[in-house]
Amino acid sequence: MEFDSFFAEALDGLREAGNYRVFADLERHAGQFPRATRFREDGTSHDVTVWCSNDYLGMGQHPDVVRAMKEAIDRCGAGAGGTRNISGTNHSHVALEQELADLHGKESALIFTSGYVSNWAALGTLAAKIPGCIVYSDALNHASMIEGIRHSRAERRVWKHNSPEDLDRLMSADDPSRPKLVAFESVYSMDGDIAPIAEICDVAAKHGALTYLDEVHAVGLYGPRGGGIAEREGLMHRLDVIEGTLGKAFGVMGGYITGSRQLCDFVRSFASGFIFTTALPPALAAGATAAIRHLKASPVERQQHQERVARVRRLLDRRGIPHMDNPSHIVPVMVGNAAKCKWISDILLETYGIYVQPINYPTVPKGTERLRITPTPFHSDADIDHLVGALNDLWSHCALARAVA
Ligand SMILES: *Cc1c(COP(=O)(O)O)cnc(C)c1O
Repeated sequence: MEFDSFFAEALDGLREAGNYRVFADLERHAGQFPRATRFREDGTSHDVTVWCSNDYLGMGQHPDVVRAMKEAIDRCGAGAGGTRNISGTNHSHVALEQELADLHGKESALIFTSGYVSNWAALGTLAAKIPGCIVYSDALNHASMIEGIRHSRAERRVWKHNSPEDLDRLMSADDPSRPKLVAFESVYSMDGDIAPIAEICDVAAKHGALTYLDEVHAVGLYGPRGGGIAEREGLMHRLDVIEGTLGKAFGVMGGYITGSRQLCDFVRSFASGFIFTTALPPALAAGATAAIRHLKASPVERQQHQERVARVRRLLDRRGIPHMDNPSHIVPVMVGNAAKCKWISDILLETYGIYVQPINYPTVPKGTERLRITPTPFHSDADIDHLVGALNDLWSHCALARAVA
């Protein structure tokens, strides 16, 4: 087989469908978030403002976080030195797990090398090892949850997005004696909508199911201490597993689950994706701990974040730029055409120094192509005016439909 021509043909297919991904080559500026330098392929570079970062609160450059990481490197060196089992468990991992268990009001926590790995390993292990387990998965669950459930080979049912009624219908049709697990998210990252957590927990309780909530896009951002939507709504105790990332609002890298002592110990003891991989560098764990501690005590970033989000929405409305209405911090500006979405994103970057990645199929359904805008506390009034002004120009240029006020 001509392997390279096979690869090239497959990639051409992606290009023709408009799904070929091009990465922006960036260097972020510490202390000047959300500014970055973008390097072009021809070797030149220019300054840009990032409008699509998941470092939602700029914690990746927070002085406490940066200091904690530098101190940890000076104290313990660069890497962890092994898997958690064989010489890799550093004191900063233990401290981070205590911090996380406390954040979600649980007995225990277990950290992984990413949020993806935490979902894949925890769901994969729970669903595979609980005898006869049936998994009920929200239709819009993240790829990491889907892959974990698939990997478990457990029977699975996909319920209509955010529909406790459909979940109840599916669960009622199954053998009441089979163990059940309900997996869903709080804030969904593309539409920014929020799950009816209490109602879903009611259905799960009725059928005696384990509940597993991915709060990746909510931890640090919602709740009095940044524990997420479940904390804000007083529901943390109703979830058996709360999963999160250290890579988004906490600004660093890594993932985790929190739950009962027995559940976390079970995953620790049986999950291949936890056991057979080198532990996070201690400096990452120390940085994450500093970010979590800071956001537990300080509501300022969360308040400023929500205020910036509201301002972006208000100014978009004033110009009739259509954006999906939702109760979260994610502002999806709707373009509805893959080619135009990519073109607008290219012009924003080259001409206006604004970086927003286009979101096209298969990440979102065809016809709902969008620019996913994530305002942060560090975007100034001038930044917002510049963004909305640029979108206004391009909306006229492309003759795109305006929203009616
Ligand atoms: C990003 C994401 C993850 C994975 O987290 P990482 O730490 O980036 O690996 C898991 N779930 C959802 C919903 C996500 O958006």
